[in-house]
Amino acid sequence: EVAPTEIEIRNPATGELAGTVPIDSAETVAAKVRELRAQQPAWEAIGPEGRKQWLLKLQDWLVDNTDRLADVLQSETGKARVDSLIDPAFSIDLTGYYARRAAKFLADEHPSPHSPLARVKALTTVFRPYPVVGVITPWNFPLAMPVIDVIPALAAGAAVILKPSEVTPLSALELARGWREIGAPPVLEVVTGAGATGAAVVGNADYIQFTGSTATGRKIAAAATERMIPFSLELGGKDPAIVLADADLERAAHGIAFGGMFNAGQVCISVERVYVEAPVYDEFLRKLTAAVKELRQGVDGREPKYDMGALANENQVSIVARHVDEAVKAGARVLTGGERTGVGTLFQPTVLADVDHTMSCMTEETFGPTLPVMKVANEAEAIALANDSIYGLSASVWSADKDRAERVARQLNAGAVNINDVFANMFSFALPMGGWGQSGTGARWGGANGVRKYCKQQAITRPILPTQTKEPLWFPYSPVKLSIAMGAMRAAGTRGLRRVDLLAVLKTVRGK
Ligand code: ADP
Repeated sequence: EVAPTEIEIRNPATGELAGTVPIDSAETVAAKVRELRAQQPAWEAIGPEGRKQWLLKLQDWLVDNTDRLADVLQSETGKARVDSLIDPAFSIDLTGYYARRAAKFLADEHPSPHSPLARVKALTTVFRPYPVVGVITPWNFPLAMPVIDVIPALAAGAAVILKPSEVTPLSALELARGWREIGAPPVLEVVTGAGATGAAVVGNADYIQFTGSTATGRKIAAAATERMIPFSLELGGKDPAIVLADADLERAAHGIAFGGMFNAGQVCISVERVYVEAPVYDEFLRKLTAAVKELRQGVDGREPKYDMGALANENQVSIVARHVDEAVKAGARVLTGGERTGVGTLFQPTVLADVDHTMSCMTEETFGPTLPVMKVANEAEAIALANDSIYGLSASVWSADKDRAERVARQLNAGAVNINDVFANMFSFALPMGGWGQSGTGARWGGANGVRKYCKQQAITRPILPTQTKEPLWFPYSPVKLSIAMGAMRAAGTRGLRRVDLLAVLKTVRGK
C-alpha cells in the first residue's frame, strides 16, 4: 500500500469536491521554516510602522475578495452563506486593530525602579519576536481561526508557519495567496496535511499557537515542552448559560438560541448547556423552543437563505446524535429537533429538557446544534453546576440585576463571562480570550498581550550617573561595605529605618 500524498476536500452538505491539497512531509515543513527564519529579520527590522502598511494592504485585499473568500469557505464547510461571510468580516476588523496598535503595544517600556537603590539605572523592557511562530488551527472557522492568530504574530514581527485543519485547508491557502498577491515579504507560509504535518510544525517553530481539541492540545504541550518552546492553547469548551428568574426571558431565549446554534453549534464558545431557575423554567423552555423552531436550515449558495447549514463531517454528526440519544434514553425530552435532516451532514437544531449531569450532553463537548436545558433551585446551584466541568472557556449570565449578574460572573470558573449576551468578548480584542482548566493555557488578544505573547522580553539596564572604576559592592569584600549594603537594602525593602538595626547587621556580617 502506498501512503496517500494528497487530501481531497469535500463540501459536507453536497459531497462535491472542493479541492485537493498536498500532505506536506516533515522535511517540507522543516525547509519552509528554514526559509521563514531567513526572511524574518528583515520583517522585524522594518518595525511595526512598516509592517502596518502590509497588514493594511492585506486588509484591503480581504475587503476586495470577500465574496470569493466566502465562496471557498462555503465550498469546504457547507455552511450557510451568512455564516460564510462572518470569517472575512471578522478578519478585516482584527487585522485593522493589530495593524494600527502594534507600534504602541511593542514600544519599549521604561518601568519605574522598584527601590530607591535601583534609581541609579535606566530600566528598559524590549519586546523581540520569536522568529517563527507556528499556528495550528481547527476547521470551524477556516479563515477567521488562522487570521486571529497569524495577524498578531506578523504584527509582532514574527514570521508565521500556518497549518490549517486537514478538513478545511482551502481558506488558509487563500489567505496565503492574498499575502503573495499584495506583494508582501515572504514571511507567511501555509503547510497542509493532518496530525503529522502539525507535529512537524511543533518540531520546528519557536512558538506554538494552537486551537483545537484538548487531546491534541495535550500532545502539543508535551512536544513543545520537550523542545522548551512556549505555547498557547485554546481547547474545548462546554460553555454554560445561567438564566436567573429576574432575566428578560425573551432576550435570554433568543440570545441562547443564537449562542447555541450559531455556525450550527460548531464554535468553541457556543452555549452547550443551560441552567434555569425553577420559577421561570417552563416559560423559558417555551420561549427557547419557539426561537429555535424559527431557524431556517438548509444548503444555500451565494444568496443567503438559511440561518444554519451543515456540520463539518460525519464524525461531528455521530457525536451530536449520540449525545441526543443517550439523553433521551436517560429520560430527557426532545422539545424540537433531535435528528438528521436527511441532507448531507445537516442535523436539526435541537432543544433537550429535563437533562442532568449524568448525561453526556451536559458533560462532554458536543460541538453541534443542541441546547440541553436543566432546572436549578437557585443561583448557588446554577453556579455549582456551571463549575462542575473540566472545561472553563466562557459562560453567560442572564439577569435584569446587573450587580447580581456580576456577582455570579465572578464566581464562574471561565475565561470569559458575557452578561445578557453571548460571544461579546470575542468581538473585543482589547480583552484576553483564553480558557481555564482543560480549555487551555495562555490567551490570545488582550490588547498589548496579543502581540507581546509572541515576543521574548529583554531587560536592559544602563547607569544614569557617571560611573566609577568600581561599584561599591564589587571585590574586595569587607564587613563594613557589606553592612552598609545590607542596611541599605533592608531600609529600601522595608521602606524606612523601621527594621534597620545597624548593630545587628554588623553582627551578622561578622558571623557573631
Ligand atoms: P478538531 O477535532 O477540532 O479537528 P484536532 O485537535 O483534531 O481538533 O485538530 C486541530 C488541529 O491540530 C488540526 O489542524 C490538526 O491537523 C492538528 N493536529 C492533530 N494532531 C496533531 C499533532 N499531534 N500535532 C500537531 N497538530 C496536530
